[in-house]
Amino acid sequence: MALPEVPAVDRLARRLQSPDYQQWRSMVEATGGCAHPVRLTGHWMLTDKTTGALLSKPDGTPALKSGHLFAPCGNRRESVCPACSDRYAADAFHLVRAGMSGGSKGVPVTVADKPRLFVTLTAPSFGPVHNRRTSANGKRIPCRCGRYHHEDDPAIGQPVDPSGYDYTGHVLWQAHAGKLWNRFTIYLRRHIARAAGIPVKSLKDHARLSYAKVAEFQKRGVIHFHAMIRLDGPEGAADATPSWATADLLTDAVHAAHAATGVEAPEIDSTTRLLTWGEQIDVRPIRAVDAHQVEDDQGAITDDRLASYVAKYATKGTGKSEAADRPIRSREHIELLEASEHHRQIMRTAWDLGGLEDLDGLNLRRWCHMLAFRGHFLSKSQRYSTTFKRIRGDRQIWRLEQNLDELGVTADSVAVVNHWEMTSIGHRDPEEQELALAIADRKRQARKDRYANERTD
Ligand SMILES: [Zn+2]
Ligand SMILES: [Zn+2]
Repeated sequence: MALPEVPAVDRLARRLQSPDYQQWRSMVEATGGCAHPVRLTGHWMLTDKTTGALLSKPDGTPALKSGHLFAPCGNRRESVCPACSDRYAADAFHLVRAGMSGGSKGVPVTVADKPRLFVTLTAPSFGPVHNRRTSANGKRIPCRCGRYHHEDDPAIGQPVDPSGYDYTGHVLWQAHAGKLWNRFTIYLRRHIARAAGIPVKSLKDHARLSYAKVAEFQKRGVIHFHAMIRLDGPEGAADATPSWATADLLTDAVHAAHAATGVEAPEIDSTTRLLTWGEQIDVRPIRAVDAHQVEDDQGAITDDRLASYVAKYATKGTGKSEAADRPIRSREHIELLEASEHHRQIMRTAWDLGGLEDLDGLNLRRWCHMLAFRGHFLSKSQRYSTTFKRIRGDRQIWRLEQNLDELGVTADSVAVVNHWEMTSIGHRDPEEQELALAIADRKRQARKDRYANERTD
């Protein structure tokens, strides 16, 4: 006999009234409302660096915390953890913005006067897919299948003729996307040097190419790269750009490098494919922040809006029909995923190609759940701006300082002893999960409001 279910509202109410609720809540608050926190058990204490003695709080109790602790899961994807993906987006925003507008995170405001471009590089076609099309004069024209698709139509991005779609090409291209980007930057430097009349080897003595790029999954299951590209003086952001390095010169070099880039894929069935970018490319100068629209009438983009857009790309998953959030264990596993038939076919292809000895180096099974994309979602050149690590470090130092302030001691006289062991991952029941999501939601709203104020300053 099945027991009657306790209604959800009652269970939530009961959780809210339970004696340990406040403590639980503050642990979840500390993770920002993470949906899958790592649960740790152990202790944390502050000791005097020279004597090793345990410090006391102003009220005489020892500066020691033992018991349980939650650490945020840190997942970038919104579908997995709204709280952690939100923090990632905020970090991405600050990182990208610092490199474009300067004025924070150790990047000078003069970067805004340097030649800067926003470039979108696309994948080629592997077969026609359903889409919404507009003609050159902005009129809507029907899809190849003859229909007009609604923007939420799940058919968008799916192949018109699945049997004729080049899945092998798709998987190989995606697996080499990072390499294509590297090759592109090499050609770009080459073309910049050529335009400036400098041997490519000595370009580094005159100018430095800085960039940050974000990968965004398209509905057809292939990525695009959006890149902020900047030309600095040899020492990076703080160094004056040489006078010959104009936005026009950089634009021409981007087009030339785009056309020249190619990577040879490993041979399959005695065919070698040359992997290139798609013909579609978008190159726009980035304007200093002084307008509210993303684009002005000349097609230039303002840097602030762009940074927030980029943050959004960075937390997107593989597309509407989410692929797996974690690596795939077997070919059968693919059939159980809630994904479109097209995405599943990409994964099957990646899985099967991953079994070929010649393709060992591509690690296709490991990246099957990412539709064979092996790269980073957000990456940057060395001197573009700050790093994620530094942004996170700043946050941690700030928290520690708060604690030290309360104790009336300074950082250099104190040692922090941490000893934690992982016990499990995730919340214990759906009620806790729901409460955590509510906390994340509130935090996100508060952050949005804060941004809105920050930006009108
Ligand atoms: Zn999380
Ligand atoms: Zn169609």
